[in-house]
Amino acid sequence: MHFSGKNVLITGASRGIGAEIARVLAGYGLKVWINYRSSAEQADALKAEIEAAGGQAAVIGFDVADEQAFIDAIKTIVESDGELSYLVNNAGITKDKLAMRMSVADFEEVIRANLVSAFVGCREALKVMSKKRFGSVVNIASIVGETGNAGQVNYSASKGGMIAMTKSFAQEGAPRGIRFNTVTPGFIATDMTSGLKDQIKEAYIAKIPLGRFGEPKEVAETVAFLLSDGAGYITGETIKVNGGMYM
Ligand code: NAP
Repeated sequence: MHFSGKNVLITGASRGIGAEIARVLAGYGLKVWINYRSSAEQADALKAEIEAAGGQAAVIGFDVADEQAFIDAIKTIVESDGELSYLVNNAGITKDKLAMRMSVADFEEVIRANLVSAFVGCREALKVMSKKRFGSVVNIASIVGETGNAGQVNYSASKGGMIAMTKSFAQEGAPRGIRFNTVTPGFIATDMTSGLKDQIKEAYIAKIPLGRFGEPKEVAETVAFLLSDGAGYITGETIKVNGGMYM
């Protein structure tokens, strides 16, 4: 895969899918900025692992739900490297409850962490990428943003919002040479899904044509393709990585 840009910020890259995106993109020669909120040790260990493999990495801790912290982080990256070529809005949380028991605070917390943060990231990226008239952004939404899911009205609203928002950013970014796309993973083996009871996991697997949960690498390679020059004519698109669970 070929990349004309040189660096990438991946939010929520201390663990799970984000960490794998960092490994894969570093392997393709990009300098990766590893964001974390609380897992500082894991972020540092990932940086060391990437450097030991001959890649370039930096760690940048901030809470994506804090608008000013996100703005400051992008400023730090541009001051260091002269540009931000790529952004992956990956950080996300769940706070599952049946709707009748869900408070507005539970709803808003997830919207702020997943959707408002991605808005701030896309907006700031659009500003700095516009100066170079080059850039590409991938937002990590979810299958649940396409299908809905009982117990996740907050999470599904945040992820469905990301899909629509990305298409709007794509229309504003296109005249400036900046692409915005979404990846919607199905069930992927990470900390987020490791807590599911075996019975529930088996029920989900029965609905997945490929018969298993996905691996973080399978999401990461799709993200890499969307960022790369090879996807230069793709914008506003939503790519499902879900083993056929929703077609
Ligand atoms: P995970 O294993 O729970 O890891 C979440 C990552 O996000 C961690 O690195 C965490 O950092 C970071 N994070 C959370 N809130 C943050 C905040 N406010 N500011 C900065 N970083 C924050 O999750 P995952 O499974 O890799 O999921 C990654 C993305 O894929 C999420 O957007 C998720 O919704 C989406 N997704 C996952 C699945 C799945 O099955 N796993 C399916 C569909 C979509 P710290 O540890 O430092 O707090």
